[in-house]
Amino acid sequence: MSLALQTFSTVKDASAALQAAGARYLGGGTLVVRAANEGDVSLSSLVRVTDPSLSRIAVSGGKARLGASVTMAAVARHPELNALSPAARAVGGPAIRNMATVGGNLFAPAPYGDFTVALLALDAIVVTEDGEMPIETFLTGRNASRAVVTAVAFPLPAAESFRFRKVSRVKPKGVSVLSIAALLQRTSDGVVTSARIAFGCMADRPMRAKAAEKALLGCKLTSKEIAPALAAAGAGTSPITDPIASAWYRAEVLPVHLGRLLVG
Ligand SMILES: Cc1cc2nc3c(=O)[nH]c(=O)nc-3n(C[C@H](O)[C@H](O)[C@H](O)COP(=O)(O)OP(=O)(O)OC[C@H]3O[C@@H](n4cnc5c(N)ncnc54)[C@H](O)[C@@H]3O)c2cc1C
Repeated sequence: MSLALQTFSTVKDASAALQAAGARYLGGGTLVVRAANEGDVSLSSLVRVTDPSLSRIAVSGGKARLGASVTMAAVARHPELNALSPAARAVGGPAIRNMATVGGNLFAPAPYGDFTVALLALDAIVVTEDGEMPIETFLTGRNASRAVVTAVAFPLPAAESFRFRKVSRVKPKGVSVLSIAALLQRTSDGVVTSARIAFGCMADRPMRAKAAEKALLGCKLTSKEIAPALAAAGAGTSPITDPIASAWYRAEVLPVHLGRLLVG
């Protein structure tokens, strides 16, 4: 079956083309081209946009805006995105990171989507031609989305407030057993005043750890005080099973790695 490639200079024209049956947006292509090569017959055309604004990184006033076509490699080497560099570097190896985009990562099914786990903890806004929405809302409805994502925007985390951990069996570029990101605000004596935690591989897409977040409030990050948060970590999760790990294994090791992220 033939596969057409349609290139547009504007998001508006690409959006119109995407409404056709069998049309899929082409970001870096690391997943969608692989699907085509593997014989996904639901695909009949790939739609791409050349608008340079989609590849722009803007950092100012404590906020960052990443165009949807920005690659993981570009995030990892940007001097003002140090906090996000570990999450960008967690995606594949160098060849994948040179192609894998921020926009594509938002759609990547578990065990992928490591960078999106970080964006979810940062409470990013997802921008499409139709408007903006919180990343959590976007993730809930992403399977039905036909819109072109143009950018993500988020407040840059204060130093020491943002943590990211990817757990994999193969180093340095194995697929995730799980990934965790946490944005923690603390008083000067270390008491947690707000916590936003996201998990990857604990559902079919990145999810918030709301029970653990709640249990952390008022705690110091010591093994003793975080114990209730670790006990609550699995609430609402539905880990995936794949060749890397079973759902059971993922559920067992989640509190261990959350504890290391919080105390370490
Ligand atoms: C060998 C290998 C290793 C990998 N390792 C990891 C890993 O460790 N961690 C990880 O998170 N991922 C990993 N991935 C998955 C993937 O590379 C990344 O998730 C990447 O960020 C996907 O982005 P992309 O631009 O390549 O997406 P594409 O393949 O271009 O697109 C993926 C999906 O998103 C849609 N899409 C893309 N951009 C947009 C947009 N702007 N608007 C609307 N829809 C859009 C496409 O239509 C498609 O459905 C790996 C993939 C491979 C092949």
